[in-house]
Amino acid sequence: MEELSKAYEPADVEPRWYKHWQDLGVFTAGAGHVAGKPTYVIPIPPPNVTGSLHMGHALGSTFQDVLIRHKRMQGYDVLWQPGIDHAGISTQVVVERLLKREGVTRHDLGREKFIERVWQWKEQSGGRIAQQLHIIGASADWARTRFTMDAEYSEAVRECFVRLYEEGLIYRATRLVNWDVESQTVLSDLEVEIEENVQGELYEFAYPVIDADPAVGATELVVATTRPETMLGDTAVAVHPDDPRFKHLHGKKLKHPFVEREVPVITDAVLVDMAFGTGAVKVTPAHDFNDFATGKRHGLEEINIFNLDGTMNAQGGEFAGLERFKARKAVKKRLAELGLERGSKPHKMTLPRSQRTNSVVEPMISTQWFMKMAPLAEPALQAVRDGRIQIVPEEWVKTYEYWLTNIQDWCISRQLWWGHQIPAWHCQDCAHVTVSREDAVKACSKCGSAKLAQDPDVLDTWFSSQLWPFATLGWPKQTPELARYYPASDLETGYDIIFFWVARMIMMGLHFMGDVPFKRVLLHGMVVDETGDKMSKVKGNTLDPLDLIHGTTFEAMVQKAQPDAPLAEALTKFKKAYPSAGQMGKGFPAYGTDALRMTLCSYSPQAKRIALSPARVDGYRKFCNKIYNATRFALTYIKDEKPTGKPPAEPKLLINRWLLSRLSAAVNASTAGIDEYRLDDGGKALYQFFWDELCNWYVELTKPIFLDGSAEAQAETRATLVHSLEVVLRALHPYMPFITEELWQLIPKAPGHGATVALAPYPTGADGRTDAVAEREMQWLMDAISGARAVRAEHGIAFANRLSVELRSPNAELRRVLTESSRMIQFLASTDGAPTVAEPSSSRPRGSTLNVAGEVEVLVTLKGHIDPAKEKERIEQKSKRVAKDIEVMEKRLANQNFVANAPPEVLTEARATLASLQQQKERLVEGLELVKELSE
Ligand SMILES: [Zn+2]
Repeated sequence: MEELSKAYEPADVEPRWYKHWQDLGVFTAGAGHVAGKPTYVIPIPPPNVTGSLHMGHALGSTFQDVLIRHKRMQGYDVLWQPGIDHAGISTQVVVERLLKREGVTRHDLGREKFIERVWQWKEQSGGRIAQQLHIIGASADWARTRFTMDAEYSEAVRECFVRLYEEGLIYRATRLVNWDVESQTVLSDLEVEIEENVQGELYEFAYPVIDADPAVGATELVVATTRPETMLGDTAVAVHPDDPRFKHLHGKKLKHPFVEREVPVITDAVLVDMAFGTGAVKVTPAHDFNDFATGKRHGLEEINIFNLDGTMNAQGGEFAGLERFKARKAVKKRLAELGLERGSKPHKMTLPRSQRTNSVVEPMISTQWFMKMAPLAEPALQAVRDGRIQIVPEEWVKTYEYWLTNIQDWCISRQLWWGHQIPAWHCQDCAHVTVSREDAVKACSKCGSAKLAQDPDVLDTWFSSQLWPFATLGWPKQTPELARYYPASDLETGYDIIFFWVARMIMMGLHFMGDVPFKRVLLHGMVVDETGDKMSKVKGNTLDPLDLIHGTTFEAMVQKAQPDAPLAEALTKFKKAYPSAGQMGKGFPAYGTDALRMTLCSYSPQAKRIALSPARVDGYRKFCNKIYNATRFALTYIKDEKPTGKPPAEPKLLINRWLLSRLSAAVNASTAGIDEYRLDDGGKALYQFFWDELCNWYVELTKPIFLDGSAEAQAETRATLVHSLEVVLRALHPYMPFITEELWQLIPKAPGHGATVALAPYPTGADGRTDAVAEREMQWLMDAISGARAVRAEHGIAFANRLSVELRSPNAELRRVLTESSRMIQFLASTDGAPTVAEPSSSRPRGSTLNVAGEVEVLVTLKGHIDPAKEKERIEQKSKRVAKDIEVMEKRLANQNFVANAPPEVLTEARATLASLQQQKERLVEGLELVKELSE
C-alpha cells in the first residue's frame, strides 16, 4: 500500500485525477449509464469566448457539476453539454483594442480580414475559460464542446432566422432604437442599464413666438430640458390643452434660433404634465422615446441631428461636427448670447447606459430587424403556468410572468462585423429584400436582378444562444443525440440572465421543437464580497477563484486586480471587503478546489446574494484535512478488511448500530438536498456526519475497542468503519471530487468496484441502517461524556487527571445503556475507574459539582483536583470579567438608538449574549459555594 503523506496536498492530487477521469472517458455522455435509467441533461450556460473564470462561473459550474456527478453515479445517462459563446460585441471590442495597439482600425483591415483576425485571436487566447473549468473539476463532455460560430451551429442560426422570417415573426422596421455611439451599434432594451439618481440640470430657454401680440400674452415660450443640444432636432413644442397660461399660443409658431425652421406649438395631454418644469415641452421625435410617440400622434417631422458616432450632423447647423456633450455646452453658450437663456435648476434624473461600453445611450431613428415577441411569449408563459417548466426558487415566477406579459419586440440586428451576418440580400434595383438559407444568392426573388448586397448587420449574440439546448445537438438535422437528449432536465444559471437567455430559450424550444427545452430552471444568486457588496474591478473587491485554489499573496492579488492603484491603498480596500482575509497574514494558502467547492455549496443557492467568506474556505480546507487524517487513522485498522459492499448484517455494538443509522440519514439528506437544489442542506448533512459523528465521536469511541475489546467487537467495528468510510467518500464525491477519489482509491472496497469513484453508485439509505433505538441510546452516552468533559473544561482539569464521576437518571433503560458503555465513558471522559450509575437522589455529595446534560445528571467530584484558593481566585477574576461584559451589553441594549436601528438578527444576538452572560454569572456564584465545600 502507498504511504500517505502527513498532510493533504491538493495541488499534487487534483490535476492527476482530472486526467484519470478524462482518460477513462468518465465525462462522455452516457458513461456509467445503467440500463433502464433515464437521461439527465444540463446545457452549460456557454461562457463568453473573451471570458476568464470569475467567482460567478465557479459557483454555477460547481452547482452544475454536483448535480451532474450525482446523477451520473445514480446511473442516469448523463450529458453535461459544454460550449463557448462568440460574444459579438465583447469580442469585437477586445480585438479592436489589439488592433489599436498596432495602429490600425478594423476599417483599415476590411471586414473579411478583420473576421480572420478574430478567429486567429480565438485560436490563440479565446476559450481559456474552458481550461479553467477543468481546474474547478467540471465533468462536462468536453469532446462535444460547441462554439456558437461553428459551421453547424451557424446553420441552425440561419434556419431559425429564415423560418421566423417566413412566418412573419421577423421583420424590418424603422424605429427609434437605443444607439451605442461608442461601439456604433443598436442595443436591445435589455442591454441598456439605467443609472439612477444622476445629478443633472434642468435648463430653461425661450423660443420667440412668431407674430406674437404683446397685448394678448407673453411673446415667448420657455421650455425646460435636461438635454439642451437636442433642441436642434425640435419639431414642436407641446403644451397641455387645458393649461390657461398658454391658451393664446394654440396654433402659433415659434422661431428656431439656430436653424431655418418654424416650430409649431401643439397641444398634447399625454406628453405634457402641467406641473412639471415650465409646462411647455420641447419635442424631439428623432431622439427621445416619448417625443417619438408624440410625433407619431401629430405627424411631426423626425429630424436626426447626430452622426452614428454621436457627433452633430449637418442638421446641427453651426454646431455640426461637435461631439454631443461639447455641442450641449456650445448650444447653451449661444442661447445665452442671444438672450434666450432663462435659468437652470439642479435635477435628479436617470441616465441610460450601454451595458457593454458604459457610454450614454442615444435614442436614434434607424431601420433594423425585429423579432415579434408576443406570439412567442404566450406559449412560454403557459409552459410555466401549467408546470411543464418549474422555476426554482419560485419567487422568480412573478418576474418571469411580468416580463413576458409586457414584452416588446426585440431588435435583433447589430452593426458589428463579428457574429452571424443576417442572411438577407438587398436588391439594388427594386429594394426588395431576399432572405435565404443559401449563401450564394444570385438573383432578387422579386425582380430577378443580380445586383444584390448582403445586409451588413449581424445578429444579436443572444439570438444564437437562445437556440443552445437544441442547436448543440445537431438541429435542424434530426440527429440521434437530439432525439435522446432533448429536452434537457435542468438549466442552472444566474438570475440576471433570466430574460436575456432563459425566457428566450423557452420560446425557441417550444416554437421549433414543440417541447420545453428543460424541465427545471434553477436560479442561483450573485457572489458578492464578504461585506455584501457587488464585486467590481473599480471597488477592488474581486476575488479570483484560482487564487483561492492555488494560493497567492494579497499583494500579488491586488496588483493583478488593480494594476494602476497604489499598493497600500489597494490592500486596504481588499481587506475591508474581506475582513476575515485581513486576519490571515500575507495571503491565501493553496486551499484546493474541493475546499472552494464545498464552501460554495455551503451557501443557499437560492439566496440573492452570496457573501463569500475566505474564513469559510479555510474552514473547509480543515475539513479536507479532517477527512484525510481520519482515513489515515482508519487505514491502520482496516487495510486488510475484505468489505462486502453491504453494512454488517446484525451489528451488536451500540456505536456501530448508531453510526450506520446516522450514515443512512446523512446519505438520504444529501440526495434530497441535491434533488431539491438545496446543495447547502445536502453538503451540511455529510459534513456533520463526517466531522461530528464519524470523527469526533465514532473514531474516538473505537479506540477502547481496538485497544482491548473482544475479537468479535473489533471485527464488527472494523467492518462498520471500512463500510461507512467507503460509503461516505462516495456520498461526498459530487461535492469534493478530488479528495474523495484520492482516498477512495486507497481504502479496501468490495469486489466489482470500478476504476473510479466517479462511476461508483451513489449511496442510498440502504447503505446504512436506520435504528431509532440506537440513536436514542447513543444520545445518552454522548450526553454523559459531554457532561463530564464540560466540567473538566470549566475547571481546567488536565485529561491525565482521572475524575470520579457518578451518572444519575430515573430512566432504567438509560442506566442500563450507560452501565454497558461504562468502558467508553471511562476512556473518553478519563474517569477514575468505571463511573457509578445510579438513580437520582436529592443529595449532592459535598465537594462535587452537578452538570445536567440532556437526560443525564453528571456528578463530578472535584475534591483533590482543584486548589480551593486558586479556584476562588479564578472564579473571582472571571466574575469581574463577566460583570463587565454584562454592563456593556446592558448599556448597549438600553441605548434606544441601537435598539431602533440595529438589524433584527444583531438585536437577537445581543439579547442572547446577555442571557448567556447572566447564566454564567449564576454558575460562578454556585462555584463559590463549591469552593467553600472544597476548603472543608
Ligand atoms: Zn429586385
